[in-house]
Amino acid sequence: MKTYPVNETHRLQTRQLNMPPRLLLGPGPSNAHPRVLQAISNRQVGHLDPSFITVMNEIQEMLRYTWQTSNPFTLPVSGTGSAAMEATLANLVEPGDVVLVGVIGYFGERLVDMAGRYGADVRRVERPWGEVLSLDDISQALNEHKPAILALVHAETSTGALQPMEGVAELCRAHNCLLLIDTVTSLATTPIFLDEWGVDAAYSCSQKGLSCPPGASPFSLSERALAKLDRRQGKVPNWYLDMTTLANYWDGRTRSYHHTAPINSMYALREGLRLVVEEGLNERWARHQANAELFWEGLSAMGLSCHVKDPALRIPALTTVSVPDGVDAKAVAGQLLNEYNIEVAGGFGQLAGKVWRVGLMGFNSRKENITLLLAALKEIL
Ligand code: PLP
Repeated sequence: MKTYPVNETHRLQTRQLNMPPRLLLGPGPSNAHPRVLQAISNRQVGHLDPSFITVMNEIQEMLRYTWQTSNPFTLPVSGTGSAAMEATLANLVEPGDVVLVGVIGYFGERLVDMAGRYGADVRRVERPWGEVLSLDDISQALNEHKPAILALVHAETSTGALQPMEGVAELCRAHNCLLLIDTVTSLATTPIFLDEWGVDAAYSCSQKGLSCPPGASPFSLSERALAKLDRRQGKVPNWYLDMTTLANYWDGRTRSYHHTAPINSMYALREGLRLVVEEGLNERWARHQANAELFWEGLSAMGLSCHVKDPALRIPALTTVSVPDGVDAKAVAGQLLNEYNIEVAGGFGQLAGKVWRVGLMGFNSRKENITLLLAALKEIL
């Protein structure tokens, strides 16, 4: 045998992976459903195998149900929620387009950053972290800025606030502007009606309401959005996320190679969506709402309060709990993790040190988790 002078410096001999049994009650990822974990270990096939194409078709159809849309252009982006977020902007923004972003927390800021990177003339309409925009705020900003796109975060995970969507599309139509929404924390946890709400572009993730590991992220464009994409003067400035070419892989007629789909992540997403279909949207939304209310009652019984005061404006899947005066938020989160194997997150930006962010999403939105977390919090505090 011929041998080569192999450098052994980095030949790390390590143990078989054995991760701690965390209960993920932070803003995401949430624990994957056991059936999803089983599905992900299914045997691999090729990304153009007829059996995989069936999986792709099923995912697209169940995504349409979950989002309540008939948009033909509905598919999962390979990557996490930020990849799907970037895909909306990369495809729809042309240099110089005015993009109005509703900034009610960190993810609005991320939209501002991304839209700017694609050459948008970015304008902002904002509210302090924990509040939402009124229809008046939106109407005035549309009048002032006359944007090509209005981008809103439906469920602002950094603050726990749920942006009401009623009436927004009518304003957008009146201003001939596309409506783009972030549904990363709201999909499959909170009522969403993409078609009824007149949404033109939406994205989400797999690791929250869909009870999957991160990695395959829902994405949908309306006919109006596709028309804007069609009118583009230049190429989409992001090769990987270019929907004009990626469409040829997802399109039933062509099915030509673009990039290798993350096969097993798609198996997971399919199972996560099957769980949504089995449960039914109304039942699922009601479960998230009921468990959120149970959690809020438990907090209140302990003398704790929610950062978002109006329960109707709270994201059912993600509660921001105000940290009582004199309590070290980080230390409590550390104790929850180290002594109880429970992950919750702290706040950041305007809410750094002021809140804990607690997620009850998808498979984790269960009474037993609420009882456990409240009991652990009680012991610690
Ligand atoms: N948008 C919102 C509202 C989010 O909560 C997140 C992540 O938590 C993202 C976008 C980005 O998603 P990801 O972290 O999966 O890339």
